[in-house]
Amino acid sequence: MDVRQGFVGTVGNTPLIRLNRLSDETGCEILGKAEFLNPGGSVKDRAALYIIKDAEEKGLLKPGGVVVEGTAGNTGIGLAHICNAKGYKCLIIIPETQSQEKIDALRTLGAEVKTVPAVPYRDPNNYIKVSGRIAEETENAIWANQFDNLANRRAHYETTAPEIWQQTDGKINVWVAATGTGGTYAGASMYFKEVNPEIKCIVADPMGSGLYSYVKTGEINTEGGSITEGIGNSRITANMQGAPTDDAIQIDDPTCVKMVYRLLYEEGLFMGGSVGINVAAAYALAKEMGPGQTIVTILCDSGTRYQSRLYNSEWLEAKGLLPN
Ligand code: PMP
Repeated sequence: MDVRQGFVGTVGNTPLIRLNRLSDETGCEILGKAEFLNPGGSVKDRAALYIIKDAEEKGLLKPGGVVVEGTAGNTGIGLAHICNAKGYKCLIIIPETQSQEKIDALRTLGAEVKTVPAVPYRDPNNYIKVSGRIAEETENAIWANQFDNLANRRAHYETTAPEIWQQTDGKINVWVAATGTGGTYAGASMYFKEVNPEIKCIVADPMGSGLYSYVKTGEINTEGGSITEGIGNSRITANMQGAPTDDAIQIDDPTCVKMVYRLLYEEGLFMGGSVGINVAAAYALAKEMGPGQTIVTILCDSGTRYQSRLYNSEWLEAKGLLPN
């Protein structure tokens, strides 16, 4: 029998999808790891699972315990599913600027959800810091702490990247991905540089995130902003520290939105905004490097989580982002 064991056994082993039109146009193989097919619907199921397993192994999380996290949504959704499957409680702190779809999904999953104003990381009322304090004050609770908990990037070092390596028969030339916590990018780039130091590892960054300038100049510059959710950062998280990086590429919102709609109408893929950044970066690199490259990125989550924004023409028009 070929049967996966519950929710937990269904995380990972996602397909690698050739983006046909983009690949044919550029002469490169532009490949997307279909993380939206994880059972909780995003790449963050892997990190959520590793964080919970790590806390169980260390004896920090016991039956009936509580998992507390500050999250832009997808990690919370992954954690809430796993908590249900394993019998833990889940408490999520989320900035109120995140899409209603994600907040609703968390509540439907039975997580206790506290929305807080979106303030920068340096502010003590930032959602990440609030979640750390609540975890400390709550009995029998752990703080998932996805940004600085290295179990996050280990998930991608031990699963995502080896899967890509196998799926491409080791023929990957370029790895490019946007970073939120940095877990996906860093864990995979560490693995790829170990198995073949020739693989180029490139950070894709939305406007308003400091990673691009950090890679280029060593300084963090966070001018500008983006409609994308779950990616971009104003600091180097523990998960990003020491991540092998050859270069960075910055993608603006008009380019991202155009790519999201190309994916929908030309590839048949209904994707979230961070996928627009990832695939636009892969496409730009394909054009810059010329034919023959195999470029791999992440299809982080699906468009269903962004119906009211990225797929709402009134909302896009108000942002000046409505494509033709
Ligand atoms: N895309 C989306 C939609 C996300 O929610 C996240 C995680 N916040 C990412 C990309 C980035 O993943 P990571 O945290 O591993 O850098």
